[in-house]
Amino acid sequence: MAIIYKSITAHRRRGRAAAPARGEQRLSPDGGPPAQGAQPGIPQLPDGRAAASVGVSHAPARSGPPGIPAGSRPDGQAAKIVEAVGREPATRMPGGQGQDSRPAVIEVRGLRKSYDGVEAVAGIDLEVRAGEIFAFLGPNGAGKTTTVEILEGYRRRTGGDVAVLGADPARAGRDWRARIGVVLQESEPEAELTAEECLSLYAGYYPDPRPVAETLDLVGLTDHRTARCGQMSGGQRRRLDVALALIGDPELIFLDEPTTGFDPAARKSAWDVIAGLRDLGKTIFLTTHYMEEAERLADRIAVLAAGRIVAEGTAATLGGRDTEAAVISFTLPPGVSAADLPPAVAACVTRSAGGHVEADARSPLRLVGVLDAWAQARGIDLPDLDVHRPTLEDVYLQLTREPR
Ligand code: ATP
Repeated sequence: MAIIYKSITAHRRRGRAAAPARGEQRLSPDGGPPAQGAQPGIPQLPDGRAAASVGVSHAPARSGPPGIPAGSRPDGQAAKIVEAVGREPATRMPGGQGQDSRPAVIEVRGLRKSYDGVEAVAGIDLEVRAGEIFAFLGPNGAGKTTTVEILEGYRRRTGGDVAVLGADPARAGRDWRARIGVVLQESEPEAELTAEECLSLYAGYYPDPRPVAETLDLVGLTDHRTARCGQMSGGQRRRLDVALALIGDPELIFLDEPTTGFDPAARKSAWDVIAGLRDLGKTIFLTTHYMEEAERLADRIAVLAAGRIVAEGTAATLGGRDTEAAVISFTLPPGVSAADLPPAVAACVTRSAGGHVEADARSPLRLVGVLDAWAQARGIDLPDLDVHRPTLEDVYLQLTREPR
């Protein structure tokens, strides 16, 4: 039975990477040239059959120390990074508390990728540590898919050093791939198979798969285990995608816009699933256009714009969000003007029109206190008083705003 999912093809097309650019050779999952007769970009099962969208693997049994694929040593470039990481002082924990001694699962230095001489990724550095959820944000065309495909071993880089689980993805083999799960933007599992059958089929390709029942339970599909893939709702299918990525019990999971098209309830339950993966010790590399998703899930966030990382930090600190001024706004009652405000408030006013006042405050509590005392002394109320701190979306939009 030929199991050929269209997912990767569809996904790569959406990412404009379906057809390799002129002079570009798509890598097979094993790092070599695509197998004879294989569809570009579609992973091959051990017997050479094309496989599905998700961490389909073909690996011999896994053994050896974490970070180093079984039966292989990091090659030159990866070894350089692994060696360098070993020597480096541990980085700060998210939020700046303490040292993070967790091993680096993804190490990227000076990564570049050009298509026909046009630089899509212009020299980026990244580090993702074991057990963290790392969110990769950026506007359309920023270079996210290109970067992720290089990390997954599906795309060749133009320059820079990359180590994923201790190996260079461009050269890593099947044992390496067994340790990675990939959830693409779209997938199309075999329509006639039930969820349970589909997972059982894929479990057979892994040396040490997670039990099917446990995997169904993990993604909340136990009640739908006998549903045919072709008859599942979009949300159920997405859960199956995640289940397929988890069936091989990977250490590192790439989630590409995992909740696009979900209703709010489905999105929230997907977030629970993803957070649950972190609880299992998995490392997650997440791309998303939903700021709430990144804020809710990510331990750290990197923002990519025009092929460069423009900010990196936690949701609270990204782009100096924690130190940005808050905006206090209110409307003055008739007969009171901005000129009547106490000096401490007046000095911070940035906008005043038609009685509506906005003031920037580095210490909003202090300014609100002054305003409150002033209003009470005058016997007036400011019913629409609002204190607005920059949201993650505000910061993101500022960071990714194109120069005019
Ligand atoms: P989106 O959010 O829309 O998925 P992205 O951040 O994933 O965007 P990429 O798909 O990595 O962005 O594209 C980055 C740039 O590289 C874009 O300008 C795109 O047109 C270009 N590009 C991507 N793949 C190819 C290709 N195979 N050949 C030529 N140019 C490409």
